[in-house]
Amino acid sequence: MTAPLDIAAVRAEFPILERHVHGRPLVYLDNAASAQKPKAVIDAMAAAMTGSYANVHRGLHQLANETTTAFEAARGATARFLNAGSAEEIVFTSGGTDAINLVAAALAASEIGEGDEIILSIAEHHSNIVPWHLLRERKGAVLKWLDVSDDGEIDLGAFKALFTSRTKIVALTHMSNVLGAPVPARELTRIARERGAKILFDGCQAAAHGPVDVQDIGCDFYVVTGHKLYGPTGIGALYGRKSVLALLPPFKGGGEMIDEVTTERVTYNEPPHRFEAGTPPILEAIGLGAALAWIERTGREAIAAHEAALLAHATEEMSRFNPLVVYGRSRGKGPILAFNLAGAHPHDVSTILDRAGVAVRAGHHCAQPLMKRLGVSATARASFGVYNTHEDVEALMAGLHKARDLLK
Ligand SMILES: *Cc1c(COP(=O)(O)O)cnc(C)c1O
Repeated sequence: MTAPLDIAAVRAEFPILERHVHGRPLVYLDNAASAQKPKAVIDAMAAAMTGSYANVHRGLHQLANETTTAFEAARGATARFLNAGSAEEIVFTSGGTDAINLVAAALAASEIGEGDEIILSIAEHHSNIVPWHLLRERKGAVLKWLDVSDDGEIDLGAFKALFTSRTKIVALTHMSNVLGAPVPARELTRIARERGAKILFDGCQAAAHGPVDVQDIGCDFYVVTGHKLYGPTGIGALYGRKSVLALLPPFKGGGEMIDEVTTERVTYNEPPHRFEAGTPPILEAIGLGAALAWIERTGREAIAAHEAALLAHATEEMSRFNPLVVYGRSRGKGPILAFNLAGAHPHDVSTILDRAGVAVRAGHHCAQPLMKRLGVSATARASFGVYNTHEDVEALMAGLHKARDLLK
């Protein structure tokens, strides 16, 4: 058993939690869209700008060397966070979307052509749909869709039935940003790799809510984003298995990613630098490194246990609240609660909650195919993070009571 979190101490590390919204203390329940930042992250970025900053790599002066060391240390921290085999397997990107576009574009340039097949689930975020649609439009690739249950769960038999000799890659969310449903990543990876297909997991949600071990999963690619991991925007990471990255052509061209450039030809740097054209998000990488260190210090198991308790509390309260529909009750569900108040538009619900200081999201959550599958055009969504409390759950429920009274 891990020791429970000292929530008051955790909250004290997030300066923004002191503010009020519409005269009420902030109750921030929009963590699935972006998480708030602890002082450790803010301080690390400010310290780099005040104390030691220059462009990275190739530098022959002290500040360039110090900044390069800090930047590469962040890569090492990301590798450890995902339990990658080495830091060379971590490519810094500008976010989760950028990482998936990198993989899609590089595969389009190397091995995906007309008639080749890509397996996606109906529960994907648009970031893990549209890059593959571009391959459909531009290369004639074929998208094969895996349905999910009402709870967001995958049927392994249906998954296996989608493979053909043309299947090149499977791209699945490790945890739905709407239903919170986790997928059995190890099992799915075994099935895909046995059939000669690559597999990518979109871990933008999963990595924020529990430990991830890419070597144990065995996947080819794993994607995370900094701003949902209590880090800054503008930074994400792509894990790529060493043997896979080694054969992957570049995505963007520019400085840093080359070995040699002449007027006739160009040769490319080794991974991960081959995929990092131009000046990278240096300060953001340093911020991400600080965020991951903060998460490790706080305790990933303890964070997961705390968030699971909040989810259980909110789920229990919502089950006794009529007329509320909650979407998704999968086993091992992450702390993401999509819901609708019957007869009310989720935008109106979220506006009323906002007046009470409670920040939730309402809309299609960048998951329109899943909305269609669920038979709705939008939902409200409350999502928990490390600093949320049981009082936050009570504030959400009080706001929903108010919304029900106002909207009936
Ligand atoms: C947020 C999110 C993304 C997009 O990540 P960005 O870094 O915001 O581009 C992709 N997939 C899932 C599941 C997400 O929750």
